Amino acid sequence: MDLERRVYRLSPSQLSAETIAVTFAKTSRSPEPFDVIAAELDEEKSAKFSEKWIVGYGHSSVAEHAVIHLAMENISRLAIESIEGNRLASYTEKSTRYQEWNPKAFVIPDEIQASSLKSEYLQLMDQLFSTYAQALQALKPWSEATTPRMEGESEKAWANRARVKAVDVARFILPAASMANVGVTMNARVLEYAIKKMLSSELAEIRMIGAETKCVGMQELPTLIKHTDPIAYYGEVRKSFTGVAHAIDTIRSTEWCKMLDADPYGEAKILAGVLYRFGDDSYSVALDQVQNMDDETRQSLAGKLFERMGIHDQTLRELEYTDYTFDLVMDQGAYFEFKRHRMMSQTPQALTTNLGFAIPKGISEAGFEEKFCAAMDQANELYNRIAKSEPYAASYVVPNAFNRRVLCRLNLRESFHFCKLRSASNAHFSIRRVARGMYEKIVEIHPILAGFMNLDEGESSHSITTDYFSSVDKRPPS
Ligand SMILES: Cc1cc2nc3c(=O)[nH]c(=O)nc-3n(C[C@H](O)[C@H](O)[C@H](O)COP(=O)(O)OP(=O)(O)OC[C@H]3O[C@@H](n4cnc5c(N)ncnc54)[C@H](O)[C@@H]3O)c2cc1C
Repeated sequence: MDLERRVYRLSPSQLSAETIAVTFAKTSRSPEPFDVIAAELDEEKSAKFSEKWIVGYGHSSVAEHAVIHLAMENISRLAIESIEGNRLASYTEKSTRYQEWNPKAFVIPDEIQASSLKSEYLQLMDQLFSTYAQALQALKPWSEATTPRMEGESEKAWANRARVKAVDVARFILPAASMANVGVTMNARVLEYAIKKMLSSELAEIRMIGAETKCVGMQELPTLIKHTDPIAYYGEVRKSFTGVAHAIDTIRSTEWCKMLDADPYGEAKILAGVLYRFGDDSYSVALDQVQNMDDETRQSLAGKLFERMGIHDQTLRELEYTDYTFDLVMDQGAYFEFKRHRMMSQTPQALTTNLGFAIPKGISEAGFEEKFCAAMDQANELYNRIAKSEPYAASYVVPNAFNRRVLCRLNLRESFHFCKLRSASNAHFSIRRVARGMYEKIVEIHPILAGFMNLDEGESSHSITTDYFSSVDKRPPS
């Protein structure tokens, strides 16, 4: 037997995704090298093995070695939200920040096609997309006048910065029905579950995407995509809880970034975790040790944890030993970016017009506020009419300016990642406000460790609110 170390790839251009998964699965019981195992397999033998071990005996993690790339085009942003709700996968979608939208690029969902409100839906889409195009025109002189040219910056680079600034503001008008494209990379285990969830959706568009994904998935992963029946249980839970939740009187909270829960001993627990990792005592001993330190010693220990960290280095895993729960309200444009952070637990509420909408300051300064608010009011009016019979499909008409409520839980490690990435100057001001708001609450309770995020001191959630928004929760007329 050859005992030389080897690292090599099993190429998807030579082996099917299922054969690769089975090759890896077989190493569990076979002493042979992977390439020998793979050479003995063909599609039929792989299928038989998968049926027996992966599908039959529940060794499901093996299916994670079979990966598929799915190109999804011209689907609504509402559908993209649902697809990207599958945590253990990778996505890249068309950006509202870097592209301008074609006025015909919106879906007409089946629920609306079949409804007496179809013509009003089409009128609203025309209005929103033409308001979006007019806003871009109106914002151009504003963005050029408020974007000073930097020293040595070319005319082209400056014009592009000014254009992006206008697009960042105009995006508030785009509705959830807007079409986009998303590239998805998923393993077979996630894909099977994603299909089940899509087929159980309350929205016809997502059920259709689920059925098409199943057909495409089965071409490449015929034995691994097996159990895809819709999950009836989800529908039952939805029905039972919707009734109870809507029986509660609505209490309007004005706090848009509320920390619900955090551990006052969180910093000590993290430092104890790091001591534990490099020591040989029990965790209780390490925690006692940290709790008995004076503030100066504890601060110095925290400094040692971060002082050598480079900009491309990740924080240690022990930062996961404390977490924070937030109840957040943010505009839908910000939520669309927020949802991409897979390492958090997130529970968004449905996209409605009930929490009012944001008016970006650029809209007001460009003299476009009246038209903007008129479009939001129209969207609110139609949303409420559609919601009476189609509460889920009504979300299609809701523009990005409207607020969304989301419950989330994240640990300090993910807080470092999220707050640093999303408070950076190249991030959109809506998500910068969320990142700053969360950071301010975290640093208040855990100043020693969160202080090492080293965020630029130039901005605060308050300054972003006043500098970039005329209103963050304008209520349309009821
Ligand atoms: C300036 C900017 C522009 C952007 N433009 C676009 C765009 O045009 N289109 C678009 O679709 N998105 C865009 N994004 C979103 C971006 O691609 C990320 O999806 C998003 O920021 C979430 O970040 P994350 O994946 O690092 O975070 P999380 O999901 O929160 O993950 C946290 C960390 O966990 C690790 N991790 C999580 N999952 C994996 C995995 N599967 N494999 C390896 N490591 C993993 C990584 O270290 C990651 O940083 C943009 C983001 C920024 C900041």
